[in-house]
Amino acid sequence: RFWRLHKFQRQHMDPEHLTTNNTQYCNLMMKARNMTKGICKPVNTFIHEPKEIVDAVCQEANITCKNGQPNCHQSSLPLNLTHCRQTGASKYPNCQYRASYLTKQIIVACEGKVYVPVHFDAYV
Ligand code: ADP
Repeated sequence: RFWRLHKFQRQHMDPEHLTTNNTQYCNLMMKARNMTKGICKPVNTFIHEPKEIVDAVCQEANITCKNGQPNCHQSSLPLNLTHCRQTGASKYPNCQYRASYLTKQIIVACEGKVYVPVHFDAYV
C-alpha cells in the first residue's frame, strides 16, 4: 500500500511553491510529476502546505467521498491550492493546462495503518 501514499505525494503535494500567478506552473508541474504520460491527466490539484498540515486532515471527522466510500475528511481551514485543468486545445503528448489559484478547504480520502491521504476528492 506504500505506493498509494507515495502517489498522493507525487500528484498533489507541493509545499515548496507558494501560490503565484505563474501561467506555466501547471504545464511544468503536470509534466514534472508524471501526469502527462500515456494520457494528459485532465484535472489535478496541487496543495501548497506542509505535509504535517495535509496529513492531519485525516484526523478530522469522516465524511462520504464522491464514490460513496466513508473514508473522506475535510480540512477545517482553507489551504493554498493550485487547480490545473486541461485546455480545450491541449493534445497529447503536448498537454496544456490552465491554472487557478485558490484558498479552499480540501477533502481527501485516507487509508492505511498510518492513516494518511491517498486520494484528493474535492475542494469546497
Ligand atoms: P487522485 O484521485 O488523488 O487524483 P488517483 O485516482 O490516481 O489519484 O489515485 C487515488 C487512489 O486512492 C486510488 O488508488 C484509489 O484506490 C484510492 N482511494 C482510496 N479511497 C478512495 C476513495 N474514497 N475515493 C477514491 N479513491 C480512493
